[in-house]
Amino acid sequence: MDNNTGNPQAFDLSPEMLDEIQTNIEEIIKSFPISESNKLDVIKKINFMYSHTRHLSVTDALTGLYNRRHFENTIEREFLRAKRYSNDLSIAILDVDFFKKINDSYGHLCGDYALKEIAYLALQTFRKTDFVFRYGGEEIVVILTETPMASAIIPLERLRKAVENYPFNYDCKSFQVTISIGTETLREEHQTPEELLEQADKALYAAKEGGRNRVVTASDI
Ligand code: GH3
Ligand code: MG
Ligand code: MG
Repeated sequence: MDNNTGNPQAFDLSPEMLDEIQTNIEEIIKSFPISESNKLDVIKKINFMYSHTRHLSVTDALTGLYNRRHFENTIEREFLRAKRYSNDLSIAILDVDFFKKINDSYGHLCGDYALKEIAYLALQTFRKTDFVFRYGGEEIVVILTETPMASAIIPLERLRKAVENYPFNYDCKSFQVTISIGTETLREEHQTPEELLEQADKALYAAKEGGRNRVVTASDI
């Protein structure tokens, strides 16, 4: 409840708060007057349900990448962390070129197949400390932690080439796919994560304008 207006407000639990609640539930169950093995059984079931639900809440069902909601939380946290400790931080937005054509030519399921394969290639490309999200329909965002621009470009180019050379094949039909990527690195002038993302998005637009199938950095434009 908002104290000023009396209006009900959305009550959004952070993952940290959920973890704390989970720990408290374990404590409560431990205090139940039931046998120890029974308690352990209940705790195990609750832990399983919790981790499964938590996984679903951050995951995109089609690609298995992190979802948009998780992106919003992660970029906020990584942006603040990078600013506070003066760490490098890069972000990239990737968009499939002429994706509508793939759907129109081979069908929507084939489009879905192509997205899954691209997501798989992306997961293979980046470090475990990076985060890969499905941002929108055929857009993927990557947060590259502790990575300056010169180092970010290397995996981004690798992914661009991997997609270009990947033998996409669906329902006995072979086809090629390319991606365009816009990227930006954290600079002093960025006050919010949105500004960082906006610059990467502008670079993506320039990559499309420049002929697609390329990586463009915000400093190039
Ligand atoms: P551009 O190179 O300019 O990005 O061209 P494009 O055709 O990729 O761009 P456009 O935005 O016109 O089309 C995006 C298409 O992505 C349209 C939409 O139907 C398709 N799409 C979005 N989400 C999904 C999805 O989950 N599965 C499939 N199969 N298609 C999707
Ligand atoms: Mg798009
Ligand atoms: Mg596209």
